[in-house]
Amino acid sequence: MDSGNSGRTDQIPTGIGGGVSCTHSKEQAKEEEEGDKSRVKVFTDGSGYEGQVGAAAVLYQDGAVRSRRRMRLGSIWHHTVYEGEGVGMILGLELIREEQHANGMIPMGIDNTSAITAMHAIKPGPGHYLWDLFHQQLKMVTDRHQDMDLLIRWMPGHIDIKGNEEADKEAKVTAKHGSSPNQKLPSQLWKMLPCSKSVVQQAFHAKLKQAAAKVWQKSPQYKQMKQIDSMLPSDKFSKQMSKMLCKHASLLFQLQSGHIPLNKHLHQIQKADSPTCPCCHQHNETVMHYMMHCPAHKNVRHKMIQAGGRGARDLSKLLTEPKLFAHLFQFIGHSGCMWSIFGEIPDQPTQ
Ligand SMILES: [Zn+2]
Repeated sequence: MDSGNSGRTDQIPTGIGGGVSCTHSKEQAKEEEEGDKSRVKVFTDGSGYEGQVGAAAVLYQDGAVRSRRRMRLGSIWHHTVYEGEGVGMILGLELIREEQHANGMIPMGIDNTSAITAMHAIKPGPGHYLWDLFHQQLKMVTDRHQDMDLLIRWMPGHIDIKGNEEADKEAKVTAKHGSSPNQKLPSQLWKMLPCSKSVVQQAFHAKLKQAAAKVWQKSPQYKQMKQIDSMLPSDKFSKQMSKMLCKHASLLFQLQSGHIPLNKHLHQIQKADSPTCPCCHQHNETVMHYMMHCPAHKNVRHKMIQAGGRGARDLSKLLTEPKLFAHLFQFIGHSGCMWSIFGEIPDQPTQ
């Protein structure tokens, strides 16, 4: 699932007599595989497909598939493809263990360099328990086949290696057809695998965000803000808000949502007798009128447009583009309209 670029690794875990080979390029990897005349070869893969994480291994003897094994780890909301790669390798070892006789060099092709590195990592990392299982399985294999040397080989995907494609296909099959029968799986994998902490955290945040977006879409402010920025609420927006002075952030949010002490809104909530603009007495005092049209603020608006450029003529840009916020707050401050509620509006500090 990723590209490999490391060289032949020096730290070889116990039991991998053939070593670990990560070539520098896909072409080299393909050449090395094609030049390898071992009778038995194993290919493994982990895959995220149709919402499920699957793992598989295929064992070839003399160029033909001799055995295959697959396992569905569970939902992508609970597991990572990386864990799938680890399980695929354990299944690969199981296929070798089952062989009546296994000797000489047996290469095991893996398309994920992180999995290859993690295999001999000493520090606990994500899914570390899987590598413990891998080493237990490896010990069983080498106890049974003492004349065998395992070679772990980086085998990038999509370079037209038959065994690789087969393992990839088999891992995807798990989404629909599930795992091989339990008795065909190594006993360490019979129990349900623990959920990946990072995936569960990500899933939780994604769901929280979805729920927040739903609440937001039902809120009265949504309709107004959607006209200004259809992407709200976005991460970028929240980040921008968090960097602003509290008074500025509050003003901006109120301008965007239309819930601001201007007569149109105040009248709606029965806090003003009329929606009409108290400055020009001509139109309803909406955010658009106040910011863009009211003749009473013509001079201040002119200064804002001179300083902010063309973008400052467009209300939605003015309320969403951070580079225009300083001009926006200056306009509000100089217009004096919000004084009774917000007091003095400070200039925006330079960021
Ligand atoms: Zn007016």
